[in-house]
Amino acid sequence: MKLGLVWFGNDLRCADQNILSLAASEVDQLICLYCDDPKYKQPSRYATQGMSVLRRRFLNEGLNSLATGLEALGQTLFVSQQNAATSIALLLNELPISHIYSNHHCGWNEQQSLRQIANEFPDVHFHIEHGLTLFEPEQLPFTLVSLETSAREQSFPSSFSKFRKLVERLEVPQPTPKVTKLPAVSALLDKLVLPSIRPWKAEPITAIPTFAGGEEAAQRQLNHYFSTNLPSHYKEVRNALDGWGNSTKFSPWLAQGSISPRQILASLTQYEEEHGENESTYWIYFELLWREYFHWYATYYGKQLFLVGGLSNTRAYGSFYAERFRKWCQGNTPYPIVNACMKQLNQTGFMSNRGRQIVASCLIHELGIDWRYGAAYFEEKLIDYDVASNWGNWQYIAGVGADPRGGRRFNLEKQTEQYDPNHSFIHKWQGHNYDHQLDSVDASDWPIIPES
Ligand SMILES: Cc1cc2nc3c(=O)[nH]c(=O)nc-3n(C[C@H](O)[C@H](O)[C@H](O)COP(=O)(O)OP(=O)(O)OC[C@H]3O[C@@H](n4cnc5c(N)ncnc54)[C@H](O)[C@@H]3O)c2cc1C
Repeated sequence: MKLGLVWFGNDLRCADQNILSLAASEVDQLICLYCDDPKYKQPSRYATQGMSVLRRRFLNEGLNSLATGLEALGQTLFVSQQNAATSIALLLNELPISHIYSNHHCGWNEQQSLRQIANEFPDVHFHIEHGLTLFEPEQLPFTLVSLETSAREQSFPSSFSKFRKLVERLEVPQPTPKVTKLPAVSALLDKLVLPSIRPWKAEPITAIPTFAGGEEAAQRQLNHYFSTNLPSHYKEVRNALDGWGNSTKFSPWLAQGSISPRQILASLTQYEEEHGENESTYWIYFELLWREYFHWYATYYGKQLFLVGGLSNTRAYGSFYAERFRKWCQGNTPYPIVNACMKQLNQTGFMSNRGRQIVASCLIHELGIDWRYGAAYFEEKLIDYDVASNWGNWQYIAGVGADPRGGRRFNLEKQTEQYDPNHSFIHKWQGHNYDHQLDSVDASDWPIIPES
């Protein structure tokens, strides 16, 4: 009797899921596990609060949907309240698990967890699939060996443009068909008393009209988007600060893995076959390549993704000003466009790509704050939080990442003129309401008395 364990992370889906197909063909009994990392229930080292209510709700919806999907295939979703390394080791110590199935997660902690478990349990077979990316690593014409495990390799593309030119014509594998049945839940689990690992209990969640987590909602958005003519105009409108149809809105579901980039590409290709390709349809692929770049970038650079100096060996410009950071988070800075974007983020868990660039540039270049505080705040709030895209984009704007131009400083007045000329976005999110004095103390901590 072979017993397998499927470890779910940011891949909460049953369709296009090689780890399930493999487990179905190789083992007799199976445990499906998701680890709800306790780090998200505590404040972070950047004084942010783990995970926002909106992000938590989106995750819970994703888990509800996965649990329902697995149930239809004869399985149960177990959720652990401990981190992955601890939870998996606990199960491996108690049960005769011979096979572990997981997708490659590019975050440093996830990579470390797997390495740690593989070292501790050398007899267990690990099957690592690549269900979160367009390409398989073997297809990539450059090395992915992490800096942490080998001497520095030069061939990882140093910019997105170099990466794109190397990969954009590679063939993207087709999504794999969904399994129709999974091996039964291990009966041994019934005899085990593990208070931290329980079957997932769906809690009723008040639906929000826009972003609902899970596989069905992801498919609905995919089908809806490609049933309109929006893909043929994507490039013309993608920089807008607001508006549901102005970008695909796939990112929250991609981040939770309730849809795969290969499923999106298959729909995009079908759309192009039916309606013709143009610069806009290509640009959707182009943006998915950005996501892809950051995934492999995080895989390659490991914990450098989180260092203040990023890939550069310098210390980045930036300090910490508690009052400025708090005001930036609340949308209470001297920059109405920034305030509007931050209020939108706080109220919806989402912000446009243009908005993210604007507020990141403000935090780093106008307020002089260490970029990692901004990245951590996004980690708390964004329902599409993705470790690689988030920290990679922040590094890029801070000039310590993959930007050949050494960082981006946006002129906030010009951005307002270009993207919100009649201030309708600013008014909608009340960006005009702010304290007119940014700092209440000076550099030596003396109070600054406002001029009357
Ligand atoms: C400072 C900063 C932080 C960011 N943090 C995240 C994050 O945590 N999670 C996240 O998914 N994206 C992040 N992005 C990238 C981008 O802003 C979002 O992916 C995009 O706004 C999501 O909206 P959409 O799905 O409608 O995108 P679309 O414009 O429709 O693009 C389609 C898809 O392409 C990918 N994509 C688009 N732009 C980028 C980009 N710059 N980098 C990587 N992938 C991209 C996304 O998967 C997106 O869903 C960040 C960007 C910045 C500047």
